[in-house]
Amino acid sequence: MQDSTPKTAGEDPEMRGALEAADPATLLLTLVQLTGERHWLQVAKPFIRGPMNYQEFIPEELRAQVRDRLAEVLAEFSRGGTPPRRADDALLREMMALAAGEAVPDDYIAMMREDLTDDNLASRSLKWRRPPTPATLESADVVIIGAGMSGLYAGIQLQQAGIPFVILEKNDAVGGTWYENVYPGCGVDTPNHFYSYAFEPNHDWSHFFAKRDELWNYFEGVADKYDLRKHIRLGTEVVQARYDEGRALWRVTARGADGTEQELSARVLVSAVGVLNRPKLPDIAGLESFAGPAFHTAQWDPKFDWRGKRVAMIGTGASGHQVGPTIAPEVARLTIFQRSPHWVVPNPNYHEGVAPGKKWALANIPFYLRWYRFQLFWGFADGLHEALKVDPDWPQPKRSLNALNEKHRLFMEKHMRSELSDRPDLLAKVIPDYPAYGKRILIDNNWFQMLRRPNVDLVTDAIDAIVPEGVRTGDGKVWPADALVSATGFKVSKMLHPMQIVGRDGRELHEVWGADDAKAYLGLTVPGFPNFFMLTGPNTGLAHGGNQIFMTECGVRHMMLALRELVEGNYRSIECKPEVYENYNREVDALHARMVWTHKGMTNWYRNPQGRVFAITPWRLVEYWKMTSRFDAGEYEMR
Ligand code: NAP
Repeated sequence: MQDSTPKTAGEDPEMRGALEAADPATLLLTLVQLTGERHWLQVAKPFIRGPMNYQEFIPEELRAQVRDRLAEVLAEFSRGGTPPRRADDALLREMMALAAGEAVPDDYIAMMREDLTDDNLASRSLKWRRPPTPATLESADVVIIGAGMSGLYAGIQLQQAGIPFVILEKNDAVGGTWYENVYPGCGVDTPNHFYSYAFEPNHDWSHFFAKRDELWNYFEGVADKYDLRKHIRLGTEVVQARYDEGRALWRVTARGADGTEQELSARVLVSAVGVLNRPKLPDIAGLESFAGPAFHTAQWDPKFDWRGKRVAMIGTGASGHQVGPTIAPEVARLTIFQRSPHWVVPNPNYHEGVAPGKKWALANIPFYLRWYRFQLFWGFADGLHEALKVDPDWPQPKRSLNALNEKHRLFMEKHMRSELSDRPDLLAKVIPDYPAYGKRILIDNNWFQMLRRPNVDLVTDAIDAIVPEGVRTGDGKVWPADALVSATGFKVSKMLHPMQIVGRDGRELHEVWGADDAKAYLGLTVPGFPNFFMLTGPNTGLAHGGNQIFMTECGVRHMMLALRELVEGNYRSIECKPEVYENYNREVDALHARMVWTHKGMTNWYRNPQGRVFAITPWRLVEYWKMTSRFDAGEYEMR
């Protein structure tokens, strides 16, 4: 963990090397930010091809000019030169267009301005309008369930605001998913310089897409740096929370590792349990009969040695996609059972380490990281959004949704064809017949190269049963295996399961939602459940790309604004109005009805059996940022 305050470069001998190593377009944006010299944008514009892949088109002569001018500017700063001016809206608009490789709507200006100016924790934290007394703060105490990415962030913000809190965590360590998942190859597929808390950049990520240990260490480091551990009770699983209306308190029952139960109460309850932590084993006859080691990816046995073994793996989603290529070179045989193929995109940085010069630039050149993050934001999130929308007049709705979606499909198909040009047998199995983004896009983890290996089989026949010695397919063939890996995903549709959350009228949350139809206002609150907030709640997941930390930061901000209302108004409870909840969800459903995830032709874990998309957001990230940045007291009932 590092100090996020950029150091100016001065005559630092490392600076020249860093300017050579850093991304030229990002440097150019940084230069404009620091100097207000607009003309660089015009000079660079002809070389733009898209948000992330045009850097190589910038000619060396222009790169050199940018480096020289930036070296001058940085040296001037280090001598105490004038600080950078605030870019006006017109300049920001032009800079974002250059970063994105296309025009960017004006609603990004405010978000970008915040990222450029408010890059530390204090500036992103709640501002009280009237300083609260210690007693009022005390009376708004909070229980947070879960010490993963969301729970830690909620804790940090509550701490900043002076509101007492405790975090209950079922595991014996913090870090949530990054602690639990230890399967080989486990890592992130959102670039790390984006997948970090906005106020807590890590300039030292070893790779653009870090692996599990480094990610877990990051969250451990955050817990230490912000002194959260004294608030965290590990090995404590919440089983039930019941709202006591008479006292306006949540009564929480938690179970320790030894099975003993403890009760605690607090005014406010925050669920930060995540959505991908209850493993789903495949519903296949005979699963229990398998003779060798058998486990789910999220319950990987760290003592299991796959070397020289015959491994059968069911499932080819994000987890399977990371396990397969990691173990394939060392197993005797890997038999992969694919029920449906995924769209897979190549990314040249996926296995790349971050060069020292780039790390230096990220750490030391003011605004470099902020513009780099915007490029990633566009390339991995909002810049893809148009590709997700159904064009009702599109003539080929089975294969794509609109012209951009078709373009992305062709790009991925071209990659698959080039990887497997001489293997029509494999190509026929791996190219999906549904539109791109219908399931989560995967980044190519050398998947196709792995499929070419002589010791790997890709089986697309349906599984009939698991037998002691392997996996039997519908044609009666038994595929022998010494170990069985289920890369079969998570029980997502029962959000917050198996906890029981009992609201104001004695109704349990899952009763309100029905078996599998989780809903909330902004993904955060539900009428009938006062002083209760969910992070990574219904319709806040991201399927096309994006950064779940961003969504949590937005959710926590809105929650803190609600708590400000509670504390400053000396209210006992705050609760979302039913009509606000209904209207919001109607809008979410109407948007989803025109997006890829409700399109026919594929299954995904974002929909419930009735077809309603409950897990992921239909919004552009900037829209969610805007909606959660404001707080309209009229939308809530205060008592
Ligand atoms: P998943 O995406 O739900 O994939 C499960 C796989 O198992 C699918 O291929 C599915 O086939 C198959 N499957 C399930 N039941 C089956 C059965 N009975 N018979 C045969 N095949 C079966 O699960 P996941 O790979 O664990 O990923 C879940 C989510 O976790 C991801 O979408 C992502 O959000 C997150 N994740 C992220 C990363 C990362 O790199 N950041 C890594 C891992 C996970 P069908 O497609 O036909 O259903």
